[in-house]
Amino acid sequence: MENVIILGTGCAGLTAGIYTARANLNPLIIEGGQPGGQLTTTSEVENFPGFPEGIDGFMLMDNLRKQATRFGTRFTNDVIESVDLSGPVKKLMSSTATYEAKGIIIATGASPRLLNIPGEQEMYGGKGVTTCATCDGAFYRDMDVVVVGGGDSACEEALFLTRFCSKVYLVHRRDELRASKIMGERAINHEKIEMVWNSVPEEVLPDTSGVMRGVRLKNTHTGATREISAKGFFIAIGHIPNTQPFKGVLNLDDDGYFQTEPNSMVRTHVPGVYVAGDCSDHVYRQAITAAGMGCQAAIELERWLAEHD
Ligand code: NAP
Repeated sequence: MENVIILGTGCAGLTAGIYTARANLNPLIIEGGQPGGQLTTTSEVENFPGFPEGIDGFMLMDNLRKQATRFGTRFTNDVIESVDLSGPVKKLMSSTATYEAKGIIIATGASPRLLNIPGEQEMYGGKGVTTCATCDGAFYRDMDVVVVGGGDSACEEALFLTRFCSKVYLVHRRDELRASKIMGERAINHEKIEMVWNSVPEEVLPDTSGVMRGVRLKNTHTGATREISAKGFFIAIGHIPNTQPFKGVLNLDDDGYFQTEPNSMVRTHVPGVYVAGDCSDHVYRQAITAAGMGCQAAIELERWLAEHD
């Protein structure tokens, strides 16, 4: 049986690895489906303290992993599908193995929400459809693109894309943005951004070689459809926390994020089970706050083990 199992290798999981390894707990990290987490899909990270010139997202995660490894953190690649947290031994099950631990830290992150419309999967990653303007915006220099969503992320992505693209259509399903006033006004007033209100994408349209040529939209009021020619389709309609295996076992809020106990950002109602990062934080959602939560979870778990082991 392990002392500590950590789920996830984003900023939260790897920081928890560093801290629990340095506490001599010999942690095992289960990597999950996206090793390195969301930052591996980012190009430049400019707001992580300690890097005055910024740092490549993949390199930052590689550095964190090396740092965790240096203190003895072990890694295995697997995807946990179900859990049994009813007894003192926590059991984590994948399709091929069962892992047992005295304490666990869940840092499984969040995944971008998708539209599930025809063409989305087929043209995802390299053929026009993406969830990350920061990562892919520069590929669409001097082209027309579409951003979907009405929140701060959609406005931020649209504004970012104006640096490269000739025109940005911002498609929102209502006639009012959810975004903060300042961000919304910036987007609405930008000369390169055209707002497309009351509209939802129905299909991403390919050209004869399977690369995006446009998108078909439907007006939510009239039902009328129209096509927009564009080379890029940026989906910014929020995130889904990766908490599915814990449904019915740990407390989740209406959006599926872990809920923690009063006076703690990381402690769950199950003794010895802690959460950290974007799977439980829909407010800050930053690399540095995820790292901070990983640190908190590690320290709380270390103290809990010292008292209960
Ligand atoms: P969000 O606030 O949840 O907004 C998601 C948007 O996508 C909403 O406008 C929603 O429409 C739309 N949407 C959801 N599902 C859709 C679907 N199936 N089809 C079409 N549209 C759909 O998510 P977010 O923009 O990612 O922001 C998340 C949090 O991070 C927020 O608290 C935000 O303030 C924060 N954030 C802050 C900044 C910043 O301050 N710089 C930047 C990014 C994010 P409805 O409005 O109709 O529901």
